[in-house]
Amino acid sequence: MSFKFCSFASGSSGNSYLVRSDETAIIIDAGISGKRIMEGLDYAGTAPEEVGAILVTHEHSDHVQSLKVLHKKLPEANTYSNFATWENIQDRIPEGRHVAFESGDEFSVGDIQVKSFATHHDSSESVCYSMKHDGKQITILTDTGHISEDIYNEIKGADILALEANHDPNVLAMCRYPYYVKRRILGDFGHLSNEAAAECIARLMEDDPKRRRVLLAHLSRENNSPEMALLTVRNYLGERGIFTGDELALDVLLRDEVSKIYVL
Ligand SMILES: [Zn+2]
Ligand SMILES: [Zn+2]
Repeated sequence: MSFKFCSFASGSSGNSYLVRSDETAIIIDAGISGKRIMEGLDYAGTAPEEVGAILVTHEHSDHVQSLKVLHKKLPEANTYSNFATWENIQDRIPEGRHVAFESGDEFSVGDIQVKSFATHHDSSESVCYSMKHDGKQITILTDTGHISEDIYNEIKGADILALEANHDPNVLAMCRYPYYVKRRILGDFGHLSNEAAAECIARLMEDDPKRRRVLLAHLSRENNSPEMALLTVRNYLGERGIFTGDELALDVLLRDEVSKIYVL
């Protein structure tokens, strides 16, 4: 039995991920073109009929852009979102193809257990998801201004964790964004910085030094780079005496490239 993760795109210009078991495939967010998602599925050896669900985290366009077209291409997939998000995306979903839940609910898609959990972001009611199969856990945490204890408890058991490392605050401070946008990104309901990601990884490894893979996600184009994110996180962890190796595998997910397929 295997449990796999692949990122089709990750970043503030579009997000879409695949999680799959031998039997079932789930897409998390549809924030890039349908064409790119279908190419990603093909690369990951997944037939359109195998996709049983599209999980939506929140209604921002970098997460829902191609929902409408995907329903035509994925005959077995229903879209799952909480009620508040559904209010904002229902015009993109054909009648009878939506499953609504309350944030915090658990449900299964085929042989994958899904747990939704609330995040802190400037949308109607954002969530992220943990997926479990055969005793393994894959969790994606992006689009949150901070990591509350509730969120920490949801992510700590993950064997693969895609974790937001959106920006470097110093670069953000100097960039051309209007002041109110900077405030929004940096705020409690914005996005996690490279340092916030590093701090979270350090805590995870100090609390429970089990083997885990962390994939830095949702990088900003203007205020970050893969090199900067990795360097900041590695330096921070190094200062705490934590190094990548057998226990901790660290990688970065790119905005314009399909990632490799990570297998548990
Ligand atoms: Zn986003
Ligand atoms: Zn967002």
